[in-house]
Amino acid sequence: MSALAVATGSVNLGQGFPDVDGPQAAIRRAVAALESGANQYAPGPGVPALREAIARHQQRHYGMDLDPMTEVVVTTGATEGIAAAMLALVEPGDEVVVLEPYYDSYLATIQMAGGVRRPVTLSLDGSPDATPGGRLDPAALRAAITPRARLILLNSPHNPTGTVLSRAELQAVADAAIEHDLLVVTDEVYEHLTFGVAHVPIATLPGMWERTLTLSSIGKSYSFTGWKVGWATGPAELVGALLAAKQWLTFTSGAPLQPAAAYALDELGQWPVELAASLRDRRDLLCAGLSDVGLDVRVPEGTYFAVTDISRLGWADGDAFCRALPERAGVVAIPLQGFYDPPTDSGRRSGAGRHLVRWTFCKRPEVIEEALGRLGKADLRARDQER
Ligand code: PMP
Repeated sequence: MSALAVATGSVNLGQGFPDVDGPQAAIRRAVAALESGANQYAPGPGVPALREAIARHQQRHYGMDLDPMTEVVVTTGATEGIAAAMLALVEPGDEVVVLEPYYDSYLATIQMAGGVRRPVTLSLDGSPDATPGGRLDPAALRAAITPRARLILLNSPHNPTGTVLSRAELQAVADAAIEHDLLVVTDEVYEHLTFGVAHVPIATLPGMWERTLTLSSIGKSYSFTGWKVGWATGPAELVGALLAAKQWLTFTSGAPLQPAAAYALDELGQWPVELAASLRDRRDLLCAGLSDVGLDVRVPEGTYFAVTDISRLGWADGDAFCRALPERAGVVAIPLQGFYDPPTDSGRRSGAGRHLVRWTFCKRPEVIEEALGRLGKADLRARDQER
């Protein structure tokens, strides 16, 4: 879709990457590190300064006491953390319970490890045509857990629905994990991008630290998605297992960005706060505008994505809608089908998420306004053959 955006001169509200860089002071640190010789392999678990900064970050925000030497490991983005966690913890045939819609690398890495996914669909308020509610149904979670279950792969704040799991929802996950003796891998890359609701790491719930690997990265919080500096935290045994898998993926992550990431975490804590405040305004701008053009919008509590239901404009298929959109309106968005199990794979149902489309609001306000202006002028209703 990003290639389509470039080819058609469209405003790209598809892929989630900010169009303004992260803090200049951190960029200067990265340049200084490059120029002062931080150009050879970093230690496998990450440079100590960054591991210590990550430990301090978890302490400051969540009151967690981590040993930076054994309970923190630096990864090449959260993406590597996800892959390494699956390869480390999932044996062939093990089942992984995962929230659906899900971030695409989950499916691929569960498969790489030989695991079998058991999706728990975030409820869409009953009717398939309703605006997505995106809440976790504890009964659906329990129904997905079989004796083959090994771990629960969680994501909160959640891409693409923007749901931030509440303490009660997290407690339901924790209860199930403890009862069935499951591990939890939790992807918290949007931890600081919430709007008026608190993000609670599941590792802070009673009985959960010892069974949870928490993943995050610098990419979203500091608008450095291209840096690919991430981390995993958890008990030494789980972090050690992840590190063993990482050894055969990248061995060690890029050295010069690590001191700069440490600096951002330690010294620029206000930056993500301001980013979240500005994203909240941009969320409101985008959601109001999408609603004005006739789409049903779910206002997200976190992340930088909003999901719309396209049924009211006569469309049944988000893929067809998103393919028509660049030509009709000069805007690019992403269909949600790809975040759901392929219908043939699970045999459970067909067309889940077909009527849903994701839009990002991590672009400058004037870019969002331009996109909304274009959408406002276009005829977005489905034509007969598109229904
Ligand atoms: N997890 C989720 C839910 C994401 O949305 C993304 C980025 N789109 C990632 C992980 C990837 O994070 P990173 O860039 O740090 O690898």
